[in-house]
Amino acid sequence: MRNPRHDILFDPIQLGPVTAKNRFYQVPHCTGMGWRRPKTLAAMRQVKAEGGWGVVNTEYCSIHPTSDNDAYPFCALWDQEDIAAHHLMTSAVHKHGALAGVELWIGGGMVVNLGTRIPALGLRNRPQTDFTVLNPGQNRQIDKQDIQNIRAWHRNAAKLALEAEFDIVYVYATHGYLLSEFLNPETNTRSDEYGGSLENRVRLIRELIEETKEIVEGKAAVATRFSIGLEDAESYDAFGLLSDLPDVWDLTVPDYSVEMGNSRFVKEAALTNSVEKAKAMTSKPVVAVGRFTSPDTMAQLLKDGVQDMIGAARPSIADPFIPNKIDAGQIEDIRECIGCNVCYAHDSLGVPIRCTQNPTMGEEWRLGWHPEKVKRAPKPQKVLVVGAGPAGLEATRVLGEMGHNVLLAEADRTLGGRVTKEAKLPGLSEWTRVRDWRLTQIDKLATVEVFPQSPMTAESIKELDVSHVFIATGAKWAKDAIGRHSDVGFTRSDPKMIIAGDTILDGSPIDASKIVIYDDDHYYFGSVCALELRKRGHEVVLVTPVGRVCGWGAYTDEQEASTNALINAGIEIITNKTIDNVTSGGAELCCVFSNNRSTIACDAVVPLTRKIPVTDLYDDLISDENGCRAAGLQSVARIGDAEAPSIIAAAIHSGYRAAIDLGQDIDLAQRYGRREHPATTR
Ligand code: ADP
Ligand code: SF4
Repeated sequence: MRNPRHDILFDPIQLGPVTAKNRFYQVPHCTGMGWRRPKTLAAMRQVKAEGGWGVVNTEYCSIHPTSDNDAYPFCALWDQEDIAAHHLMTSAVHKHGALAGVELWIGGGMVVNLGTRIPALGLRNRPQTDFTVLNPGQNRQIDKQDIQNIRAWHRNAAKLALEAEFDIVYVYATHGYLLSEFLNPETNTRSDEYGGSLENRVRLIRELIEETKEIVEGKAAVATRFSIGLEDAESYDAFGLLSDLPDVWDLTVPDYSVEMGNSRFVKEAALTNSVEKAKAMTSKPVVAVGRFTSPDTMAQLLKDGVQDMIGAARPSIADPFIPNKIDAGQIEDIRECIGCNVCYAHDSLGVPIRCTQNPTMGEEWRLGWHPEKVKRAPKPQKVLVVGAGPAGLEATRVLGEMGHNVLLAEADRTLGGRVTKEAKLPGLSEWTRVRDWRLTQIDKLATVEVFPQSPMTAESIKELDVSHVFIATGAKWAKDAIGRHSDVGFTRSDPKMIIAGDTILDGSPIDASKIVIYDDDHYYFGSVCALELRKRGHEVVLVTPVGRVCGWGAYTDEQEASTNALINAGIEIITNKTIDNVTSGGAELCCVFSNNRSTIACDAVVPLTRKIPVTDLYDDLISDENGCRAAGLQSVARIGDAEAPSIIAAAIHSGYRAAIDLGQDIDLAQRYGRREHPATTR
């Protein structure tokens, strides 16, 4: 039953001519699906609506081929085919009583139109301002006629949006795209009525809001996505000039690394102070995000008048059913986002988003997976899962929900595997949510038994009388430095000098004053270990064979903050060098370009270059086919890092997949090769 404290979250709210049934607003968010994968997209958005979100939006939706972000997946409203594609989404969303919104988007100088190959229209002559991609080529500086054209294209896109049956149509005036270029006095150096004074710089936004309102009048609301920030006084002046114009404000802050902040650096409700000030300046409803997962925080924000609706992208990805769970009073069932930004990373990589917490995200159409429902097993089996890391916990949960009888055996006293250990490192505390949500769910399952402090051997397994075994025994960091940049690893190494990455994870003291971390892993782990060792008082040097540390962290929006933290902690960073020898008292470095060699004195080296799956148990079992058969074992499978070490999201996905597929004769190509083919109707 719903807690009366949370009733306020379920009050309907008028947005111009339309009414949202509650205060849960899935803001526009990238999906890695875009116009190329409309069925994947519609199925994913439908699940959000089914989970209770009152409003479900698209991602950025181009109004014209001059705004093209290929190869990043984006939506488009250019022609009739786009209407048909969006209609899949709007009808799916409407089926559950939610409103569907579309974020009309004008790329400006942020894009370079790699797909359409016509010049992008930016405010000034300059290269693409999205410096995460260093494409050559500049945009064309727009003239008066272009502004007229853009207004006409926006009006046309608003008409198409109505045809596609959207209830909310956006004017998208932030995130560095064209309308932000107009607002910014540094980029808007025009001397006509669109430049100079603030009134002039907001002119195009005003015109677009007014014109969109004219087009959609009485049928859809006009939303405006806009940035305000306490450190940017003028942003409020600009907001003040438009404050009562749109039907609803979708507010954010100018710094994307706060708005989309990685949980290593940004916690829940980070935008509140900035939003509160703007809310006091408008009579129109205000939506804002803040990676909200706590219903108490959400309700308090509405009660305090900070905002009118709870905006969410990531929390709605990690748990599309948050609204329904709050409504039912099932607060402990909320699968809280951990703020890792793995979702966002995969959009940037051009593939459908995935989620560390929610393995079904992005798989709703392709595999028919659902975040809340699994099919009951027709014939429950007795299954042993070995290892209670993310893969083992997820497999156990899903098997249990399918009705199987599950034994989960974990060697350690504590459950959670790498998640429990990594969460103790600087900034990663929220990662315990991966473990805790699963343990809460497992606790409810009558057919699951959990055995900590139970190291399993092949012999002990054969005595258990189980039909299936999942080996989720994880992986360990290797000491040899074989990895991306070396086929052979260290050519010489003094074993006393080499410390395994797992030693840092275990928290064991390291008898060394100056430690070199050799990071050929390129995600968070090397940087976080460096910070941890520094915290423990060691002198730390981070060596990497590439130009920047935490390279993959560029996708998860943590690279800058992470590297800044290293600098502030006094950690020396050496780039573009491999380490190929470790001798007593030093590491030998080699420049990746010149092969020039150098040496740094140190007391220990931690190579983070690859992990080795822990498979002794698996190997023992499969090498004893007869013994296993005699013991009644029908299948033995490796899952998670024990199969192929990867990010935690992959381990969760692996655990889910293994459980769902148990006992089925799966044709991998048929099941996992499913794609949307424009040439066929399948
Ligand atoms: P993943 O990311 O694939 O879930 P983890 O490394 O997080 O893998 O977790 C693996 C877990 O398996 C660890 O908690 C480890 O203690 C446990 N484990 C490893 N070998 C055994 C074993 N023989 N018996 C029981 N548990 C084991
Ligand atoms: Fe949250 Fe990470 Fe899932 Fe994204 S991938 S929704 S940040 S848990």
